[in-house]
Amino acid sequence: MKAEIIAVGTELLLGQIVNTNAQYLSQKLASLGIDVYYQTVVGDNAARLRKAIEIGRARADLLVFTGGLGPTLDDLTKDVLADYLGRGLYLHSSSMERIEHLFGSRGLHMVESNRRQANMIEGSDAIDNSAGLAVGNGLDVDGTLYLLLPGPPKEMKPMIDGPGEAWLRTKLIDEQPLYSRQLKFAGIGESNLEAKLIDLIEAQSDPTIAPYAKEGEVAVRVSTKAATLAEAERKIDDIVDQIKARIGEHLYAQDDIPLEEAIVQLLRGSRRKLASAESCSGGLFAELVTNVPGSSGEFVGGVVTYTNEMKHRLLGIPMSQLEGDGAPGAISESTAALMAERVRQLADADFGVSLTGIAGPSESEGKPVGLVYFAIAERGKDTLVHTTNLSGDRAMIRLRAVKAAMYRLWQALREQ
Ligand code: ATP
Repeated sequence: MKAEIIAVGTELLLGQIVNTNAQYLSQKLASLGIDVYYQTVVGDNAARLRKAIEIGRARADLLVFTGGLGPTLDDLTKDVLADYLGRGLYLHSSSMERIEHLFGSRGLHMVESNRRQANMIEGSDAIDNSAGLAVGNGLDVDGTLYLLLPGPPKEMKPMIDGPGEAWLRTKLIDEQPLYSRQLKFAGIGESNLEAKLIDLIEAQSDPTIAPYAKEGEVAVRVSTKAATLAEAERKIDDIVDQIKARIGEHLYAQDDIPLEEAIVQLLRGSRRKLASAESCSGGLFAELVTNVPGSSGEFVGGVVTYTNEMKHRLLGIPMSQLEGDGAPGAISESTAALMAERVRQLADADFGVSLTGIAGPSESEGKPVGLVYFAIAERGKDTLVHTTNLSGDRAMIRLRAVKAAMYRLWQALREQ
């Protein structure tokens, strides 16, 4: 089944609101195994909405509308679709009673236009709206399905998740659901990952393999349609084995979790503790680790030592290391190593992680933007120091630096 989402609202075209409903509906339809081929946005204009319906009708089996079910005259979706289909509108009595009851119980005065929200197109099924006034409609006309939902996300979401989905399922008896698994990778860029998998991606038909980048990480979504979960798992496992054979050393999770969560899990599993000392990343490492629920069991704490004085006072790094002729400087391998070792000792942790570098936009200590040193100090082992040259703006360099350090920490943890 091919679907098109038609979002109705001039506000969307003016850029005043973001079309989050389209995203939500696309995800929902994908999870039901329905392929969304097009997303359309059209203003509150009868002629153009009618045109959008004509186009959608020609290229999709299911048109899902969102918006334009309100009480005012610019809320046109039901009227225009009814007119296009040559059908009338009627007042849905139980929806009308509900609207009257809601107004009555709140002591509010109902205006005549609110009655429009109880309108249904002849021959349609009611899609109840438990969070608002406008009743949704589901229609099946000559093999094309039309599902009409309101615009406000707090109404639209429960409707598609509940009665909307139930209605669709009654029409989808022959369709197989879509199953997908997310593979999360670290320490490898999106283009490099794609190059390693290119022949698999190009040859794919079922399951499909879709790489994408998000928030400093790369992911691959493997999807397939199958009658049962077990059958889907078998098909997905087979492709995952092939992917693992090529880039398995970068695969940190078969689930949509961030790298910091994988690290917290490994620390928890081996009952070890982590501390951090950050300069250029300004606390982002600690921020991300502490975003993981329950990380207080594994993360002891972190310091942001931004100036040389703070590196000296808090971490006891000699000033002679940080500045002066011939000193390695704050942005150096040896300072990164010292920061990681000192914070580990101070916190009595098993691992200390440090980051020092230049997030930009201007260079520092005569060193280029994007140069970041980070170190992993581990109890009873030699400290590992890494150098990386990152691209991007200030925020991106910080994020990439933190993720690069996390990747090395994850490697160290995994080797245990
Ligand atoms: P109402 O019954 O409240 O009038 P409606 O079905 O007529 O709802 P609209 O008037 O088109 O819907 O939109 C109402 C509000 O819903 C918008 O101001 C906006 O906040 C939100 N909204 C509408 N469409 C979308 C969309 N596609 N994505 C996200 N939000 C939306």
